[in-house]
Amino acid sequence: MNKGNLYVVSAPSGCGKGTILEEVLKNNTNLFFSVSATTRDPREGEAEGVNYYYISEEEFKSEIENGGMLEYAQYCGNLYGTPKKRVLEKLDKGIDVILEIETIGAMKVKKAMNEAILIFILPPSVAELRRRLNKRGTESQEVIDKRVNEAVEEIKRAVNYDYVMINDELENAIKDFEAILKASKLTIENNKNMIGKVLENA
Ligand code: 5GP
Repeated sequence: MNKGNLYVVSAPSGCGKGTILEEVLKNNTNLFFSVSATTRDPREGEAEGVNYYYISEEEFKSEIENGGMLEYAQYCGNLYGTPKKRVLEKLDKGIDVILEIETIGAMKVKKAMNEAILIFILPPSVAELRRRLNKRGTESQEVIDKRVNEAVEEIKRAVNYDYVMINDELENAIKDFEAILKASKLTIENNKNMIGKVLENA
């Protein structure tokens, strides 16, 4: 059996990636979304085990020491990491996995697992990103400024990704994302046995 594909999705905070992924996950049942661990406080409307596992810094550090994190990074003063066990189990069962993580963590995953498929979602512009963060109204102005600065640095790292797309119109963004999933399934690497089968008895 083929292993599942590992998709690593990055997008600056406020880019609307959550909405895109929600729709994509509804339409694609062989996709498992990996819930990360974080030391940041839950936002209003977020739930334990759905958006994140909210843990203390001590718990986070002991997870790292025990080798339980596939990757982790610090972002705007908080720690974020991918619990390793569940991700590897799903991939071994042939289930595709999506990690939604920032760029430093994404680079670490690519280094450890070269077959990972990296997708970057761009905002239409930095001004639009700031507007969306202000509209969300979940963070103070200071945190928004920090996140916009971080976003600019992250966008510069998009050149290291395999695929890039813009979240302008939601419908189009969903189509683009699904096109990337489809294309990644049709690589020669994923389909060597298909060629052999066609040539059987030739
Ligand atoms: P937020 O606080 O807005 O939920 O997330 C802040 C940033 O942390 C986002 O760029 C998000 O993609 C990233 N992030 C979420 N989970 C993880 C993770 O497990 N690892 C890493 N490296 N980044 C993460």
